[in-house]
Amino acid sequence: MNKNKSKLIPKIGLEIHLELSTKTKLLCSCLNNADEEEPNKNICSICTGQPGVLPVLNKEAVIYAYSLAKSLNMEINRKSFFARKHYFYPDLPKNYQISQYEIPIAIKGEVILIRENLQKKIRIRRIHLEEDTASNVHFKNFSVINFNRAGVPLVEIVTEPDLNSADEAEALAEDLVLLARYLNISQASAEKGQIRFEANISLGEKDKLGTKVEIKNIAKVQSLKAAILTEINRQKELIEKGIKIIQETRGFDEIRNVTFAQRSKEEEKDYRYFPEPDLPPLVIDKEIENQIIEVESPWQKRFRFLNEYNLEFYYVNILTKDKFLAHFFEEALSELHELTNDLKESKKLVINFLINDLLGLIEKLKINLSESKIHPHEFAHVLFKFFKKEISSKIVKEALEKALKEEQKIEDFIKNKEKISNIEILQEIINKIIVDNKKVVDDYLSGNFKSLEFLLGLIMKKTEGRADPQIARQILENTLKR
Ligand code: ZN
Ligand code: MN
Repeated sequence: MNKNKSKLIPKIGLEIHLELSTKTKLLCSCLNNADEEEPNKNICSICTGQPGVLPVLNKEAVIYAYSLAKSLNMEINRKSFFARKHYFYPDLPKNYQISQYEIPIAIKGEVILIRENLQKKIRIRRIHLEEDTASNVHFKNFSVINFNRAGVPLVEIVTEPDLNSADEAEALAEDLVLLARYLNISQASAEKGQIRFEANISLGEKDKLGTKVEIKNIAKVQSLKAAILTEINRQKELIEKGIKIIQETRGFDEIRNVTFAQRSKEEEKDYRYFPEPDLPPLVIDKEIENQIIEVESPWQKRFRFLNEYNLEFYYVNILTKDKFLAHFFEEALSELHELTNDLKESKKLVINFLINDLLGLIEKLKINLSESKIHPHEFAHVLFKFFKKEISSKIVKEALEKALKEEQKIEDFIKNKEKISNIEILQEIINKIIVDNKKVVDDYLSGNFKSLEFLLGLIMKKTEGRADPQIARQILENTLKR
């Protein structure tokens, strides 16, 4: 028994529903607007399932799905088909969902997970296009339905069960969110329900799958991880007790951190799939191909940043979380490198001021780097001044903050802010501060070393941050020793 148990490996596959941010819905010309607050505003006879209407496929959704497939390195079905997936649910007025079944838009792709101690290929089985359902809104004694979401285009991404831990599942989910944002085909916001996860989990021996349990309706990446961890433990405990796992669909209760049985798993035949007679085959033609959105995927970028710049994974991870940030880094570094001719130092400076200072400020001021008034070019130039020891790091930070707040341009701010490293000038300032702060000086002389920092602070204040901190400290210490 115990020997058996130790051989069991979690095998996890994910199904990800991703809403595409097209202008209009998948099969009608209603607006696709996730921010619409008025219920049932963006609806028509098609997306509310009236009889006798004809759906028309949205080309933009096809371009988005095709672009996604290409960046997942998939085989494209140049001709794919729509099908009706039947089930009865109040938010599905036709009693079927228009989806793709036997021949979806693309099959056989991959994602390369790259993390601190991990590099692993996860196979993508297929992606297909389908329409979203309406949303149910529940009140205490009744429920209502909002059709604004009905017919919004979705891609469903199905992975092979290649994931072996909750961490790997989390990494895959994160990477797909990033890819959607890189491609700008979806904001993939969990809050807005633009991405939803389902996980199938089994414990099996090396080459054999166990009985799989499916967990539905998970909104956030963190919840996905928690749900998988919980379900793996539940299955382990049952197997240890010699109890058979039943194939079923379970929900995840985030507050109690348990999964609970919902229904025994329906099989594909229960959906009574049949070809959609109202839509022609989906054909990928030259016109679609020409409009492809191409990006370097998050995993390609991670791989390149690790190798080309020889950065620690910690920094690579931060830089690649945002396509624009990654671009900003590369532009600023290439410019600073050109100015300094010192790659190692340039890299250190760009990483340090970008990640520690600029990103901190951006978070504090709640702005977007891409919308900010700082360009990589200016950023490199202010760092070059610091590299030449003409300005202090304090001035660099202040210049960045002023520019972000749009109070002053970087170059205007740093004018006349050159570092004061002239010993006579600093000595004069320090002498005056010592005379004016007798109590602090006495404190320092009686052993309170913190007082020295206070005095240094006064020097910085007096010089508006221009005093060279190292020289100032040395002069201060020497003067006090006398
Ligand atoms: Zn409509
Ligand atoms: Mn689906």
